[in-house]
Amino acid sequence: MKIESVRAFILKKPLDKPLATSKAELRERGTAIVQIKTEDGIEGLGEGVGVPNVIKEIVERNFTPMLIGEDPFNIERLWRKMFQRLYWEPKGAWVCAISAVEMALWDIVGKALDVPVYKLIGGLYRDRLEAYASDIFWDDVEEMAKRAASFVNQGFRYVKCHIGKGFGHDEVRVRAMRKAIGNDAELMVDINCGYDRPTAIKFAEVFEENEVFWYEEPLPPFDLEGYKLLKDYTDLPIAAGENEFTKYGFRDMFVKGAVDYAMPDLARVGGILEGKKVSALAESFNVVCSPHVFSTGILLAATLHLMASTPGTELFELDTTGTGVIDELLAEPLEVRDGYVYVPKGPGLGVQLGERVKRYLV
Ligand SMILES: [Mg+2]
Repeated sequence: MKIESVRAFILKKPLDKPLATSKAELRERGTAIVQIKTEDGIEGLGEGVGVPNVIKEIVERNFTPMLIGEDPFNIERLWRKMFQRLYWEPKGAWVCAISAVEMALWDIVGKALDVPVYKLIGGLYRDRLEAYASDIFWDDVEEMAKRAASFVNQGFRYVKCHIGKGFGHDEVRVRAMRKAIGNDAELMVDINCGYDRPTAIKFAEVFEENEVFWYEEPLPPFDLEGYKLLKDYTDLPIAAGENEFTKYGFRDMFVKGAVDYAMPDLARVGGILEGKKVSALAESFNVVCSPHVFSTGILLAATLHLMASTPGTELFELDTTGTGVIDELLAEPLEVRDGYVYVPKGPGLGVQLGERVKRYLV
């Protein structure tokens, strides 16, 4: 089997109301989608999360000539071919672009063999995953509390919120959300790298009082020493990883003892198999792997296949904002019941680029 064509698209969906975090506002849902076709007509889809136009350019200009004529089954070989450079780009858009291609290759292999991808990467360990509702974006205190309660009422035992604007803002929101969900549900806080070291340390006490389940990305991704200081200071589990790349980046994080939860994003870390390798590394350091998933149905499906086949992973991040392009890309509607997400059973990733998606493609 040979690869015949590689194409990349930008998927863009404008939002009526921006999704706000500590330092940024998401005004549209955007990503880069890669479509690879084989000579015998099999089509695979993948996605790269980051700067969509840069990822598209890297895939089309740099990777396409490396991939045409190659056997899509040789995933490790093709990964190396894309990763090894004269001037290395071991983090950032380059690796996001590799992730998109790698994901599409798995989709092709699954479709060619008529099996779901989880069967190719370890087999079924479980057919459903407990999910957390992601996310309660930054808003008024009352609005955030109301949304937290509504997710718990829908059956989720875990809800995550975006705060990180500091004193006078964050403590009142966390207290209101904790009150709104009661003591039987768990609350995660995501700072999106919005604190400095002293603020992160001071807020640890507020979060401890409110029994926060995990404390996500309090500091910038390059301050592993800061993460370690914070982890030594508080009993709160620390989570990070959506801004880390490849097994090499996570190795440094684990050796430093920086986190309790590792959050590789399969559309950034280097793809599905790289996520699997990070999970194994995490397990060997007694770190729980809980992949980051906040994009389209392609990343969502890829992450379900990984987590279905990988025991060291826990807690599926389910986009409950209603703003993502998810069902439009899935071959079968996603099954969510009582806070659990069910693993798709169709061939490949279980994704398709149908008519319903076309209006979002640029
Ligand atoms: Mg996050």
